[in-house]
Amino acid sequence: MNSTSKMPVLFLGHGSPMNAIEENEFVTGFRKIGKEIAKPNAILCISAHWETKGTFVTAMQNPPTIHDFSGFPRALFDVQYPAPGSLELAQQTKGLITKTEVGLDDKWGLDHGAWSVIKHLYPDAEIPVIQMSIDYTKPARYHYELAKEISSLRQNSILIIGSGNIVHNLRMVAWNKLNEEFAFDWATEANETIKHHILNGDFQPLIDFKSQGSAFNLAIPTPEHYLPLLYTLAFKEDNENITLFNDKPVAGSLTMTSIKIDTV
Ligand code: ZN
Repeated sequence: MNSTSKMPVLFLGHGSPMNAIEENEFVTGFRKIGKEIAKPNAILCISAHWETKGTFVTAMQNPPTIHDFSGFPRALFDVQYPAPGSLELAQQTKGLITKTEVGLDDKWGLDHGAWSVIKHLYPDAEIPVIQMSIDYTKPARYHYELAKEISSLRQNSILIIGSGNIVHNLRMVAWNKLNEEFAFDWATEANETIKHHILNGDFQPLIDFKSQGSAFNLAIPTPEHYLPLLYTLAFKEDNENITLFNDKPVAGSLTMTSIKIDTV
C-alpha cells in the first residue's frame, strides 16, 4: 500500500448475533469485502452496542470478547475473537478529537457489534481492533461532526467500521419470518429513501432523521443502530464512491444493507 492511498470506510449491517456462526449470504458478503480491500494496520469500530455518557476508546492490549446478549445457543457464547487491541491507536484517536475529552477505557472489550462481523472479514484475528463508544447524550449532528475529526486515520491504513443496522426495530420483528427476506412496507420505504440519500451524497436529511416522517420513526425507534451509519458517511470525500452490499431485509423490521466508501 503506498503512502497516498486511503483505506475505505465501511458500514456493516450486523443483524442477529447468529450471523457470527451461521453460513448465509450476509456472511458471504462480509468475507468478500474483507478480501476486496487492502489489509489495514488496525481497525477502529463504532458499534451500536457500546453507548456511554461521554466518548471512550478501548485502550487495552487484549480486549475480551464480550457476549452481550442472552437466549442464544451455547455455540455463540463459545466464540472468542482474540484480536489484539492498540494503545497507540487509542491515544492517536483521543489526540485527534477536540470536541470532547475522549476517555481511555480498560473495561469494555469487543462487543458483538464488532466481533460478529469483523471475524468474517479477518478470521485470523491478527489485526488490532479498538472500539469507540457512542455518547448517548448527544444529537446526530454531533456524531457526524465528531467522526470528521478522525478522518485522517484513514491515511494511516486504519480501517474504520460503523456497525449497526439502517432499519432496526426489534419490537416489530416478524417472529414467524425470522430468517426470511421479508420487509414491512415502512421498512422498505425507509431503507429505500435512506439509500437514495446515501447514493446522492445528500446527508442532511439523514442527520435530521427524526423529522423525516413515520417510516423513519418506525425504522429508527432508537438511534444506536443508526448512528454508526452517520459516522461512516461523515468520512466520505468528494472523489469517493459509495457501494452497497448485503442490501436485503430480514424478519420484517431489519435491513442488513451495508456500505463501502472508497476512492474512485
Ligand atoms: Zn445490534
